[in-house]
Amino acid sequence: MVVIGGGSAGFAAANKAQSNGAKVAIVDEGPLGGLCILRGCMPTKTILRSSDILALMRRAKEFGLSAQNPSANLALINDRKNRLITEFANYRIKQLNDPRFTLFKEKASFLSPHKLKVGPHTIQAKSFIIATGSTVEDFSIPGLAEYGFFTSDEILEIRQTPESMTVLGAGPVAVELAQFFCRIGTKVTLIQRSNHILSKGDEDLARPIEARFREEGMALYTKTQLLRVENLRDSCKVFFTHEGSEKFVTTKIILQALGRKPNIDGLNLSAASVNTAKGRIEVDHEMRTSVPNIYAVGDVNGLHEIVHIAIEQGEIAAHNATQKNVRRFNERLKINITFTDPPLASVGLSEKECLEKKIRYLSASYPFNDHGKSLCMGENHGHVKLLCSPTNGEVIGAHITGPEASELIHQMVTLMYYKGTVHDLMEIPHYHPTLSEIFTYPAEELVESLQISNL
Ligand SMILES: Cc1cc2nc3c(=O)[nH]c(=O)nc-3n(C[C@H](O)[C@H](O)[C@H](O)COP(=O)(O)OP(=O)(O)OC[C@H]3O[C@@H](n4cnc5c(N)ncnc54)[C@H](O)[C@@H]3O)c2cc1C
Repeated sequence: MVVIGGGSAGFAAANKAQSNGAKVAIVDEGPLGGLCILRGCMPTKTILRSSDILALMRRAKEFGLSAQNPSANLALINDRKNRLITEFANYRIKQLNDPRFTLFKEKASFLSPHKLKVGPHTIQAKSFIIATGSTVEDFSIPGLAEYGFFTSDEILEIRQTPESMTVLGAGPVAVELAQFFCRIGTKVTLIQRSNHILSKGDEDLARPIEARFREEGMALYTKTQLLRVENLRDSCKVFFTHEGSEKFVTTKIILQALGRKPNIDGLNLSAASVNTAKGRIEVDHEMRTSVPNIYAVGDVNGLHEIVHIAIEQGEIAAHNATQKNVRRFNERLKINITFTDPPLASVGLSEKECLEKKIRYLSASYPFNDHGKSLCMGENHGHVKLLCSPTNGEVIGAHITGPEASELIHQMVTLMYYKGTVHDLMEIPHYHPTLSEIFTYPAEELVESLQISNL
């Protein structure tokens, strides 16, 4: 087997295939390490830790403490991040160089469904797994390219806190970085086309984050249309429509965080007859492309840009390429987490999806500003929301905007893995006072709703 790309998806695929007995080559043009480690999850979560601590230090007085003028030094924050990232990357590079695999540090492109050009070599294999990830998507906004902009790749390298920044987009990457820079002292404006930030999820879950952003001094415009960028040499004006009129913001730096696209350029997929649609490689639930011996996993298939899903897909493809029985990718336990403060974490179906797919559901919410433990912690933003089946009470979706959401959600993932119901949630013991026990309140409300509807 040849795995093209040694990031999260590719390494998981190679590892699984090799332990299933396949002879595996990995081709990666480098830099080795993959997006998650080098420019994605790990560097962003490392720097967010600094801005989260800074935000808490600023609240010292509220907790009976004193902290003298806490401030951020972006160069030192990045030094800490770089030290950690180097460690993570070195570990991955060691894994890729393991003699269990043959590693080609070259660019790959297909010559046929069974032949790959790898730098100066031509290699053949029974099966191929494409795991080439994603790249930042280009958006043509008049004047943007002329003035210049940062993407999440480059913004992680700057060493001086920018005076002002306009963030284009409001997906997870955009909002995490917007809050980071706002907290370390940059005047941040966020401009978003949809009605609310994090627009793939439910509106009620995004609103408490927007409220927090505004409290922290961020200028936030939703329901906008970007018009143009005008160059003023060492700053620029970003023009957009908002509430029926044209507005502009003057800014030093633009962070273009409007989205990423599957990385398929240069793979010469047509030589292998692999079908693509809307710029992504089409796959079925077995992670197979239109050509049975070629699979595509991770960001390159455009299904979900999330690491643990990339790993799961890699393992599924490797299994299906090496074993007789078939494994399929199942979205039932799909998790999404945005590491803002408050964070947002979801598992399973949203209300938006239920309405779109005409799935019947009952829902109940409970706010953190009426919950003992979150009040003790001074974390009052947000709420939890449970969705259950109106027939048997099985939990089909769970959502949290609020403290420790990224950790708390795993309680709901476990419950849903075992197809637990709101009745189960009421019976499972919860220690007091904890954040976790907040779920028992919406569960209780849903149990009552089910009793009423069954009368
Ligand atoms: C700023 C940011 C923050 C993020 N935060 C999170 C988070 O907190 N949690 C989360 O789950 N996800 C997060 N993500 C998304 C996550 O990083 C990706 O979903 C994941 O890393 C994709 O893994 P992959 O294996 O598909 O691709 P990659 O890790 O990008 O691997 C692709 C590999 O293919 C190689 N390659 C490409 N083309 C070729 C070629 N033609 N020949 C040879 N080699 C090639 C590349 O060198 C690369 O090593 C974040 C993303 C960004 C940008």
